[in-house]
Amino acid sequence: MLSLAAPRLVVLGGFALVAVASTATASPEPAGVAERRADRRAAAPALVTPPPEAAEADAPPIDDATPDEPAPLSTGWPWRGRLANAVQLTPSAHVHLVDADVPNGRHWGTAALVGLVERVGAHVAAHAPGARLQVGELSGPGGGNIPGHRSHENGRDVDLAFYFVDDETGEHVDLPRFANVSRSGTARVNDRVVRFDLERNWRLLEALATDEETPVQHAFVSRSLRQKLLRAGQRLGASPELVARVERIMIPPGVRHPHQNHFHVRVYCPADDTSEGCRDRGPYWPWMPSAHPWQARVVPLPGYPPREATQTTNVARRGSRTRSAG
Ligand SMILES: [Zn+2]
Repeated sequence: MLSLAAPRLVVLGGFALVAVASTATASPEPAGVAERRADRRAAAPALVTPPPEAAEADAPPIDDATPDEPAPLSTGWPWRGRLANAVQLTPSAHVHLVDADVPNGRHWGTAALVGLVERVGAHVAAHAPGARLQVGELSGPGGGNIPGHRSHENGRDVDLAFYFVDDETGEHVDLPRFANVSRSGTARVNDRVVRFDLERNWRLLEALATDEETPVQHAFVSRSLRQKLLRAGQRLGASPELVARVERIMIPPGVRHPHQNHFHVRVYCPADDTSEGCRDRGPYWPWMPSAHPWQARVVPLPGYPPREATQTTNVARRGSRTRSAG
């Protein structure tokens, strides 16, 4: 399988993610599960450079719910929708909330989106120790319209500010607010000159493009940064397949929102919410997990034949609308 944290993330109880060390023994699981997982890993070549030692082992668990707590539910469209039983994203070693001081912070999403944010933050930090993902708004606790956004209504959108480093020391910089990147690749943050870090921002994109738990539909960003990032990926040795994936999801937005200071990331409806009124509009990428109902809508792209039905993923299919704590 292609998942970044594949060796360390185990699906338990159908939905809960538990971070374990790669050498640790997971909780008891039905006979054959480990073998099937190993088969999947063997079947699909890794798209992403494995991070250095001690990688994502400390990615926080995203689900500490009690067994009977209702699962999050995303309904409607990202631009006209609602969110129930939302999960709140909280700061961590790898996640910094850029708008943490905004009253009634809007850091609520589906478990799928919050889990994605935490995993991609951990992935970048594994390549660049000390780096923290700079997260803007997700959705309000119940979804619906929020000021300043045309979407962000049902827990499937998140704004991710860029990774910047101090121009002189190269140290990671937490942002007090989003910062526009100049043509020279710098920005000014509290009288400090900071530099758009191509490698860290590329690592973020590769993590978004290959996450198997939460397929990503888009990462909107300005056209000029898009080109620089694709070249950075090639310089860093990304495979042509990975570069092509990132190129597809990294769509330049319309003129009104040049996205010169953040990636606007959208994920597809969680698999279980598709029958409950969650709505998506394409494109549907061929690398979507084969267990996801939207897989049926995939239009093949050159180089991306439809995945075989036997190539399952660990997108959980729950039998009921409750989640188990594993
Ligand atoms: Zn946005």
